[in-house]
Amino acid sequence: MTHVLSAVAWPYANGPRHIGHVAGFGVPSDVFSRYMRMAGHDVLMVSGTDEHGTPILVQAEQEGVTPQALADRYNRVIAEDLHGLGLSYDLFTRTTTANHYSVVQEMFRTVHRNGYMVARKGMGAISPSTGRTLPDRYVEGTCPICSFDGARGDQCDNCGNQLDAIELKNPRSRINGETPAFVETEHFYLDLPALSEALGSWLQTRAENGRWRPNVLKFSTNLLEDLKPRAMTRDIDWGIPVPLAGWEDNPAKRLYVWFDAVIGYLSASVEWARRSGDADAWRAWWTDPSAESYYFMGKDNITFHSQIWPAELLAYDGRGAHGGSPGPFGSLQLPTEVVASEFLTMEGKQFSSSRGVVIYVRDVLARYQPDALRYFISAAGPENNDSDFTWQEFATRTNSELVAGWGNLVNRTASLIAKNVGEIPAAGEFTDADLAVLATTRAGFDSVGSAIGAHRQRAGIAEAMRVVGEVNKYLTEQEPWKIKNSDPERMRHVLHVTAQAVADCRTLLSPYLPTSAQQVHEAFGGTGTVSPLPELREVTDLDDGRPYPILTGDYRRGETLPAWGSHPIVPGTPVGPPTPVFTKLDVAAVVEEELGRLRGDDPSA
Ligand code: ZN
Repeated sequence: MTHVLSAVAWPYANGPRHIGHVAGFGVPSDVFSRYMRMAGHDVLMVSGTDEHGTPILVQAEQEGVTPQALADRYNRVIAEDLHGLGLSYDLFTRTTTANHYSVVQEMFRTVHRNGYMVARKGMGAISPSTGRTLPDRYVEGTCPICSFDGARGDQCDNCGNQLDAIELKNPRSRINGETPAFVETEHFYLDLPALSEALGSWLQTRAENGRWRPNVLKFSTNLLEDLKPRAMTRDIDWGIPVPLAGWEDNPAKRLYVWFDAVIGYLSASVEWARRSGDADAWRAWWTDPSAESYYFMGKDNITFHSQIWPAELLAYDGRGAHGGSPGPFGSLQLPTEVVASEFLTMEGKQFSSSRGVVIYVRDVLARYQPDALRYFISAAGPENNDSDFTWQEFATRTNSELVAGWGNLVNRTASLIAKNVGEIPAAGEFTDADLAVLATTRAGFDSVGSAIGAHRQRAGIAEAMRVVGEVNKYLTEQEPWKIKNSDPERMRHVLHVTAQAVADCRTLLSPYLPTSAQQVHEAFGGTGTVSPLPELREVTDLDDGRPYPILTGDYRRGETLPAWGSHPIVPGTPVGPPTPVFTKLDVAAVVEEELGRLRGDDPSA
């Protein structure tokens, strides 16, 4: 048993999330966490909404509300959407809690005390027409490294390098196109060069264990080549104050949103522990060297998780060229693995909320089953390559794989049992065919489990569905309905074997399809929870009393969750006629309706 931290990227609270977001960080982290819990590990899955920085500020301005009001609105919307998808967070919180502020400020103070946060004068962009500071990501221009023309002042999405706005060739404001002016301003810089050796040997050790996705490792290793100090404060009035005399009370200087957001993994773990009644419980996931941590995100977040966050942790621990010693949190463990996925496109285009090329999670959940979306993402998501969501493929896969494959097996088996026996029948004599099908489902626990454990979830679900296919074939070949009168004992036995195989498939699929797994369990007369879902709970801030919603849950193995493996079914359990678990879609109608929505045919939708 290992302590496993599932650290899930924090969505910006500046709007509802689209399916590209949850394909990147949401479903993969949940499948992994659910499997790891069943495999006996002690999982802590944390995240929350990312509520600082210019993304929030700009959207608040557009909606004419304060940044806090905007964050309140979308924190709730996002928590509801992730809840609807069944994502099993131990804690989904937010970055505007008093707890987060105090953990972030503690990290800053110790990193500063250890000598890795240096004040330096630099040049910042302002808008000549308004005189206001122009946030880095609102400056656009040509990348000085790869010459890509759409680079932003914080980062180039083409080559992945972090940039300063002043380095861009041909800089222009993304707000109104004017050429920004640059004025002197003082900021704190994280001394990455002083941490580069420590970062390098951390990555080296991780590379040697050979598990990271090759593209993530390569990208992260490249980042080490040209390490420069990075500004960790901003000229902005929305964010966490810099906890130093002379800075703290300056309303125009705040910590950089990425400095604070990545600390969320730690602060959320602390908040979870405080809410659990054992305020130190988070330490088992953070200071024990045998604990493991897996960070889930889309590829545009890699830099911050394989460079900035480990650098913050090393600096806090005093493990760079300037030495130093850890603060009260102690020696915090660096990421075991940065699990980044590629991008999901939609009908061949990049998602863009502003251009209306978008499918919100909320809208999918209003019209389709959560497990249908989870199935698509797991089977066809952007795990190692960019992948494309089309309504045609979504509806087709739902029908031919979920409904006709898994759903049909569940339905046929439960109906046959309900009609011919009325309860789970007892086993009789086992033939080779019976033993073979059960051997197949049992072997699935190794093959599916090791695929999920190695972040090969597409292979894992394909394998689980192959097993489902074998069970379907077994049932078809055995034709128990034909021997009802001639050999009722054999019929009962075949239905027993099939019910056992279906129960095994249900367990195999439950990390991917948690809502329907519970329904399948109940269709065969099962009681209690075998596939726990998260709870959306109203709480108050532990320190300042403000109310907000969190996601949390009871996912204890043995109590609400079976162990990963085959569990004997219980003969005599009553089974009634089933209602279908999955809904068949009218493919042509879905495609027409959804593409019409995308074109804006139905403005009320
Ligand atoms: Zn570039």
